[in-house]
Amino acid sequence: MIRVGHGFDVHGFSDDATRVLRLAGVEFPGHRGLAGHSDADVVAHAVTDALLGAAGRGDIGELFPDTDPAWAGADSLDLLDAAVALVMAAGWRVANVDVTVVAETPRLAPRRAEMQARLSAVVGAPVSVAWGAPKPER
Ligand code: MG
Repeated sequence: MIRVGHGFDVHGFSDDATRVLRLAGVEFPGHRGLAGHSDADVVAHAVTDALLGAAGRGDIGELFPDTDPAWAGADSLDLLDAAVALVMAAGWRVANVDVTVVAETPRLAPRRAEMQARLSAVVGAPVSVAWGAPKPER
């Protein structure tokens, strides 16, 4: 049997200049970080929700609530790793992941391979990262 999951997440920018923008476990120095309880890796969060949803194991907010200090500043790849373990414990395995990032900046093309590799190492399956922008990249 094959199940298909769909994850979605949105984070606003943080006013904290010390926060680093992290997407799919990759840091983008010089870009404004996102607001969030964890490292606010919106790409990792969407993938986590897609996998949990496909396996019927709840969602990221339920498993890692933003009211729990344990997840403050958490590396979202660790959350994804925990979700993959739950999915596998339920008898499923990840066959592939396809994720689309919607953002005006930063340019993702130069970091695409790195983002795919970071996610792939955690989920244990091929990952494809693509993107679209509401307005052309600046
Ligand atoms: Mg999130």
